[in-house]
Amino acid sequence: SKVTKESILKRAEDLDVKFIKLQFTDVFGTTKNVAIPASQLEKALDGDVMFDGSSIEGFVRIEESDMYLKPDMNTFSLIPWQSEYGNVARLICDVYNPDGKPFEGCPRNVLKKVIKEAEKMGFSMNAGPEAEFYLFERNLEDMPTTNSRDYGGYFDLSPVDLGDEVRRAMVTELESMGFEIEASHHEVGEGQHEIDFKYADALTTADNVVTFKFVVRKIAMQYGLHATFMPKPLFGKAGSGMHTHQSLFKGKNTNAFYDENAKYQLSKTAMNYIGGLLAHARGFAAITNPLVNSYKRLVPGYEAPVYIAWSEKNRSPLVRIPARRGLGTRAELRNPDPACNPYLALAVTLKAGLDGIKKKTDPGDPVNLNIYHLTETQKKDLKIKSLPASLSEALDELEADDVVRSALGPHVYENFMTAKRIEWDEYRTQVFPWEVERYLGVY
Ligand code: ADP
Ligand code: MG
Ligand code: MG
Ligand code: MG
Ligand code: MG
Repeated sequence: SKVTKESILKRAEDLDVKFIKLQFTDVFGTTKNVAIPASQLEKALDGDVMFDGSSIEGFVRIEESDMYLKPDMNTFSLIPWQSEYGNVARLICDVYNPDGKPFEGCPRNVLKKVIKEAEKMGFSMNAGPEAEFYLFERNLEDMPTTNSRDYGGYFDLSPVDLGDEVRRAMVTELESMGFEIEASHHEVGEGQHEIDFKYADALTTADNVVTFKFVVRKIAMQYGLHATFMPKPLFGKAGSGMHTHQSLFKGKNTNAFYDENAKYQLSKTAMNYIGGLLAHARGFAAITNPLVNSYKRLVPGYEAPVYIAWSEKNRSPLVRIPARRGLGTRAELRNPDPACNPYLALAVTLKAGLDGIKKKTDPGDPVNLNIYHLTETQKKDLKIKSLPASLSEALDELEADDVVRSALGPHVYENFMTAKRIEWDEYRTQVFPWEVERYLGVY
């Protein structure tokens, strides 16, 4: 049944909601919110709540600062933990200009535009992310440390796994917010965890990632811990990724990636989509892996991808095709990390795949060897390229990729680029302990 303004007003009243958080996401993936008392809910649902866009990084200049929030009615949800001032609900919003047009700098609008493009081609995208995170202790000043006091490993059932109970609490809260949790387990690293929720259409999934991170952080805090989605918090340990499973559907029940009679049972659409992902991987890396730190995860020796190839067997390449066929036929893109802005990450990867379909891009043969063990000559013969090795390289590649840039639109592109070049420059000019240790005595 369609969610209407009236049905939300009624639900808010039935649930005794006293406050509503109107949420939106900035270009860098940080969630912002404007809280309104229940008396303002009707006005909010009419899209009449304004905020000052100039105070949001990467949004607008002072002189054009009035922006409107238009809630997506489908996102109304009670925030499960209690407050002594009454129940709190949230609505996820799109940002609009005063002239009534969608604001180009709103990441949710950016994703919606690419989704429309897919619809025109007859497709809807489904996406399922696996966001990994570390749970660390807080110190006496309540600041996060990198100490996990946890000696568990992948899938371990262990009395030393402190995260076990915390994870159960997270799963329970997420379920109460409507998430369908498929699995939750300890990951490779000490203190590292994963909670998998069911795939959905791209927009819902991006919203879900935002909510997921919020709930995970909040529950960790309640247990005196800190949950971090930083891609590589510890040198020499597994980084945290956000593998993103994706497929295109035609209508509700036809997976356009599946073709019973084709090689690998993968349709032409699937093959070209994979081709598009591989062709634009260097271009979209800055969006899917947006931090200086992201590139410290993308190194050989862990489960993170380094090489641009695909496989239906091996887990070292960028794109893996899980064994499942039929409705579950999908491509797993393995480079994204959970520091990315999920709206932009899904927008650019979908755009890359659609471009592959338009241009009939051939992904080449699958590479079913462990690429980490190939020699440089073998890699060259197989024409296997690498992902960018640094944020700086990734920004250059983004600059050079017109398709990825067009998905972002000029507003997001310019603001992202400017801020990220500054971030890189700040990093580049620092002197780190490693350098001092290595050089001070010798030179
Ligand atoms: P892995 O084997 O890489 O650990 P998981 O089982 O942890 O993968 O996660 C699989 C993800 O793929 C889940 O989010 C699941 O809902 C999602 N998924 C399943 N079918 C599809 C599909 N057709 N399209 C997109 N995502 C899908
Ligand atoms: Mg998994
Ligand atoms: Mg799994
Ligand atoms: Mg994992
Ligand atoms: Mg995976």
